[in-house]
Amino acid sequence: MIPLFIVISAPSGAGKSTLCDLLLQNYPEMCYSISCTTRDPRGDEEDGEDYHFLTEERFKKLIEQNAFLEHAQVHGNYYGTLKEPIYKALKENQCILLDIDVAGAAQVRHYVSELPENDPLLKGYVDIFINPPSIEDLEIRLRGRGTDSEATIEKRLSNAQEEMDQSGLYMHQIVNDDLDVAYRRLCDIINVRAKFV
Ligand code: 5GP
Repeated sequence: MIPLFIVISAPSGAGKSTLCDLLLQNYPEMCYSISCTTRDPRGDEEDGEDYHFLTEERFKKLIEQNAFLEHAQVHGNYYGTLKEPIYKALKENQCILLDIDVAGAAQVRHYVSELPENDPLLKGYVDIFINPPSIEDLEIRLRGRGTDSEATIEKRLSNAQEEMDQSGLYMHQIVNDDLDVAYRRLCDIINVRAKFV
C-alpha cells in the first residue's frame, strides 16, 4: 500500500480507540504515531509505547526547537506529535495513523496545505472525524464506562459538542452507530485514498 498520512479525531467516548486498534491489527503496514504528553501514565500505559511521557520543561524545550508537527493543550495537559518519526515512517513506506484532537488536526491541516506538491505528508494526507450517533448516545456511553466523575462527564460532553461543530473541516466523517459498519467505512476511505496517492 502507498504510504498514507492519516489523521483521526473524535470526541472522547465515540469509539475512536477501538477503530484505530482494528486498523492497526488488520493493516500490517499501518503504524501508530506515538504522541508526547505531559499527563501522567494511566493504568498499564508504557512510556514509548502508548505515549512519550515528558515533563512540561522537556515538552516546552521541544516546542522551542520546532520539533512538533502540531501540539495542543487537551484537558489541561500538553500533547504533541513529533515531525521526525512521521517522515521516517512514510519514508519506510509505512502508513502512519495520528489520533489527535481537533485543535491539533487543524494545525496539521494548515501545515500540510503549505507543503510543496511532492512532499510525502501532503501526498498521502487524509483526515477523518468519528462522530457518535448523537450527544445523548455519547452521554450514555460515557456514563456506561463508569470511570469518570460527574464533573468530568459534563466537561467531556461540552467539549464533544465543540469538537463535533468542527467535523465539517475534515475530508471525511463517519458516524459510529454500529462498529462493523463504521469500521468498513473507515477501510473504504483508506483503500480509496491509497489508490489516488
Ligand atoms: P488521552 O489523554 O485520553 O490519551 O487523550 C486525550 C485526547 O488527546 C484525545 O482526544 C487524543 O486524541 C488527544 N491527543 C493524543 N495525542 C495527541 C497529540 O499528539 N496531539 C494532539 N493535539 N492531541 C492528542
